[in-house]
Amino acid sequence: MSRKKAYMGRMEGEPPVKKVLFWCERCNVPLVGPKCGCGAEGKKVPLLQPYDVRPALKGDMALIRKLVHEQFGSVPLPRVMLLNKTGGVDRADLVIAHGGRFGWLTFDPVNRRFNFDIAPEALPYVLGHASKGIVDLESAAAAGEVRGRIGGKKFALTAPAPEGTVIVKYRNRYGTGTVKEGQIRVKEVVTVETRRPANPDWSLVIRRNHIHLKNLEKEAVRTIRRHMNDRPTANVSFSGGKDSTAVLHLARKAGVEKAFFIDTGIEIQETIDFVASRPGVEIIEKTGDFWQAVEKAGPPGKDHRWCCKLLKLQPLKLYLAGVGPCVTVQGNRWYESWNRASLEETSQNPANPLQLNVSPIRSWRALEVFLYLWWQKVEINPLYEMGLERIGCFLCPAMLESEYELLRETHPDMVARWDAFLEDWAGKKGLPGEYCRWGLWRWRALPPKMREVCRERGIALNDDYSVRASEEKVMRPAEVTQRETASAPAVKEEGFPVARIRGDFPILGDIVYLDSAATSFSPEAVVGAMVEFEHRYRANVGRGVHRLTQIASQRYWHAHEKVAAFIGGRNGVTVFTKNTTEAINMVAQGLPWKPGDRVVTTILEHHSNYLPWTHLKMQGVEVVVIPVRPDYSLDLDALREAVEAAPTRLVAVTHASNVLGTVTPVEEIARICHGHGSLLLVDGAQSVPHMPVDVARIGCDFFCFSGHKMLGPTGTGVLWMKEPILEPTMLGGGMVETVTTDGFTPAAGYQQYEAGTPNIAGGIGLGAAVGYLEKIGMEEVRQYEEELTSRLIDGLKGIEGVHVYAAEDPAARIGVVSFTIDGLHPHEVARRLDEDTEIMVRSGHHCCMPLMERLGLPDGTVRASLALYTTRQEVDLLVASVAEICRGI
Ligand code: PMP
Repeated sequence: MSRKKAYMGRMEGEPPVKKVLFWCERCNVPLVGPKCGCGAEGKKVPLLQPYDVRPALKGDMALIRKLVHEQFGSVPLPRVMLLNKTGGVDRADLVIAHGGRFGWLTFDPVNRRFNFDIAPEALPYVLGHASKGIVDLESAAAAGEVRGRIGGKKFALTAPAPEGTVIVKYRNRYGTGTVKEGQIRVKEVVTVETRRPANPDWSLVIRRNHIHLKNLEKEAVRTIRRHMNDRPTANVSFSGGKDSTAVLHLARKAGVEKAFFIDTGIEIQETIDFVASRPGVEIIEKTGDFWQAVEKAGPPGKDHRWCCKLLKLQPLKLYLAGVGPCVTVQGNRWYESWNRASLEETSQNPANPLQLNVSPIRSWRALEVFLYLWWQKVEINPLYEMGLERIGCFLCPAMLESEYELLRETHPDMVARWDAFLEDWAGKKGLPGEYCRWGLWRWRALPPKMREVCRERGIALNDDYSVRASEEKVMRPAEVTQRETASAPAVKEEGFPVARIRGDFPILGDIVYLDSAATSFSPEAVVGAMVEFEHRYRANVGRGVHRLTQIASQRYWHAHEKVAAFIGGRNGVTVFTKNTTEAINMVAQGLPWKPGDRVVTTILEHHSNYLPWTHLKMQGVEVVVIPVRPDYSLDLDALREAVEAAPTRLVAVTHASNVLGTVTPVEEIARICHGHGSLLLVDGAQSVPHMPVDVARIGCDFFCFSGHKMLGPTGTGVLWMKEPILEPTMLGGGMVETVTTDGFTPAAGYQQYEAGTPNIAGGIGLGAAVGYLEKIGMEEVRQYEEELTSRLIDGLKGIEGVHVYAAEDPAARIGVVSFTIDGLHPHEVARRLDEDTEIMVRSGHHCCMPLMERLGLPDGTVRASLALYTTRQEVDLLVASVAEICRGI
């Protein structure tokens, strides 16, 4: 067959898709090419866009048979029928049989019913058998009405007739018509000769198309062979669907052995079983959790496919990072959608530069795919025979409502879960029930056909064509919170329960957040505690006697107790501040300094534990800065020497560096300090969220940290001190016992350091954060994060062009990892990670300019920081993305 002939009806500039089907009238079989195996020329059967004709399979046949029998009695159907999917509100297939139109199979998503409209061309095959559904115009129409031309006219019916498409008889002529509300509109009536043609089965179709199929195979195998060595390895992207099943078979013939399947976690069980039964297919585990992401992102839509990025593209990126540059054979075809109609033989994957895609069956229609698989006796996913047309995730927005309706019967549990989510979502958003029932959730902005459905039935839409919410139906936050907690899926736990933990953080979903050292996320328990304060007992603290103030004061006080216990600091004073910075400044300003005093600090410090001390120079205080060793550990000998060299009032040192992740030997430092009468302040901003901390064991005098970095609310921090030796730096309400005209007596305990109305909700939220962390166990958090950190550091170190600034010993570092890429500004790396993979990392000097200067990194570093909700896959994704950036330089 010449290429030109095959692409008949093609307009200038249009992609070369075939718009007709050939049919051998002698054998009564469809043909892939113009000529039948019997030697006869096929006749042309015009098809409808997107021209992806396919065989009617067992499930389709059963459905058509049921509908035809309901309408016309037991009319036998031919064994070979084809379906030509066309545009419609939902499923809309032109049914082809005997080389012509046989009818239309449609699904109405509103009434949830399938419908079969018989075509006039089917009458020769139906008339001899139809026992009902025939309207005889002579007896059924009002007398005298039927005159002259009948086709295209409407007649009132005098006898009852079934609604819908019927066969119309008028004298000896037949046609089809539509009955609606007591009237019939007749299309045309003509003389019909009944026919009983041969009724071949699909095995004859395969035989008659043998040459064509062989040629298709040869060409496809050649295409694969032409490109399989374009990159060091080749593999097949296998989805469990028919197209990739064909491609897998072809690729193996061409000599490509490797194949991979991405398990999104929302596949239909039959697909999982089918994939597992294919030898040599590597199964790539999911990276993200759909059920968690959907709580935040909402249902995916055809115009809002966030799920693909999370469930397909990210795992693919990870897989490819391990495989390296490769050729991937895939089953994409022109006919699947208009978007794919210009697909070339090879294409560079835009999201994954490592991958060159080859599409050997791009010119095949579904008909060719099925015929080929049947000819080759290749097993096909059983879901096709059950009636599904498209195989993928069971709640894919690209699926038809008709398919979803089918799954309702075959996979009720799966459907029930998604239905429950949709109803819940609609309830929260105040969306009408039709949003779920009609499948309107499948679009963010409804397409014209669905807008029309909504307009006809009075469903209100917004200006952007999304379904309008009704104000009064929107749930209040308390209800939302309760429902979210109740609907959280049970997750099987092995080792550290990161999946369950992630479920507690409403903000986590489809983003990869690796900036927890800047601020962490808060779990629902923390948010809920703050909401409860606002909703139930908001009042000021430490003032008055009414019941609300008593509850608020008690809870706020209790939060201090919880925080103190969490850091082993019951015997000291625990003051709530707005952050670490405020806590350190309170110490710097609350101690009585005199000229000649000495402060020893380190080059590792955050500006917040540096500037308050260097600022004291103005009061004649000497400040000594201890360096780090080449392995990024603190130079303890230098610190000891400095403290021994001259009386030192205070040593201020970080517990863990927010740039290098280095953990400092604070217990050792405390011993040095105490041996020389020095006070010790430890900045625990980066340690408290990630490891067990016991201030008593450390032996420090001041311990400062931020609540917002340890799952608590923003605007919260803590200053713990062994003894209340500081002068309060703020004076006013709430911090006094008595006030006279001459002076005041400060209140005991933390109150004297918390002048004015504090951040009450924040403090209570911080108490809840501590409770949350305690339940998980800081030892467990530390262990889990240590493992993740090693994975990240090892991964990054393995990439050429990447420099990692981290201690070697896993026990001497936390999950804060700084790195640079040769030739790229850290901000550029961070921007690319966000834009390409939606990974959020920090870049720049991280408020540690003196350290950056010492390290010779004027542009700073890229910093990835982990938390207890970070997953291995996220770490791997970062490594893969950095590797990709490096390859592109
Ligand atoms: N010290 C260290 C080690 C830090 O990492 C930070 C925050 N990056 C701070 C102090 C300052 O914390 P905050 O901004 O909460 O005051």
